[in-house]
Amino acid sequence: MNARINGLLAELPEAEFEFFAPHLKRVSLTKGQTLFSQGDKPSHVYYPVGAIVSLMIDNQAGDSTESFILGKSCMVGVATLGEPSFYRAQVRHSGLAYQLPVSVLLQAREHCPAYFRNAMKVVNRMVMQLTQAVFCSKRHGLEQQLIRWLLVNLDRGVSNTIEVTHQEISELLGFRREAITLNLKKMTERNEVCVRRGVLEVLDRQSLEARSCDCYWTAMQRQRPVEHQVALPASVTGIQMTERQNMAVTHDL
Ligand SMILES: [Zn+2]
Repeated sequence: MNARINGLLAELPEAEFEFFAPHLKRVSLTKGQTLFSQGDKPSHVYYPVGAIVSLMIDNQAGDSTESFILGKSCMVGVATLGEPSFYRAQVRHSGLAYQLPVSVLLQAREHCPAYFRNAMKVVNRMVMQLTQAVFCSKRHGLEQQLIRWLLVNLDRGVSNTIEVTHQEISELLGFRREAITLNLKKMTERNEVCVRRGVLEVLDRQSLEARSCDCYWTAMQRQRPVEHQVALPASVTGIQMTERQNMAVTHDL
């Protein structure tokens, strides 16, 4: 698989990519694998080209929550260059990535100005997406947050399947598992998704997009397609906090 499937590497001028290329090592990441933990100074950064990685925040009581999802448009470790990580990087979906030593990345600061300009844009985009996700988690209900989470996962990966169980979605989004199961059942009846053991396949992305709240489109800096500009239910525009567990709010864009 080509390293330039990753958006950050794809945007590099040829001369800068040649600086990186000899040091990039293709690795296969497995769901559940921890790339580095909170407090670690990572020795490598990762450019996903199929794998999806969650940035997890752990508290002292042993609770964990997902703060962000990274995939093929970004780099895992973007905010930890030589500094201790404030999150745990855990593989959410198995797949390939390209690994680069942090020492090489630090050297690149002198040789690769385009890379660091692009990396800054990526960080800015992450902050904007995180901000939008906070809004969504406070203003929109489970169905919209679940749809947004599914769409973001599709965007971060390279297939229409996500390795995830109802229980994991419950923990990631902070809603009861029963509520997740009920919503996925409705989506299944609409032929939008197919849920098998530990694998969720999205069958009709367009239908999910049509029912998504504006948070997804704003965060992606994309216009909602004209054919999707349908009247959304009142619950999407008003405060809806039903079914939430007494858990930390998660932000997953
Ligand atoms: Zn929303």
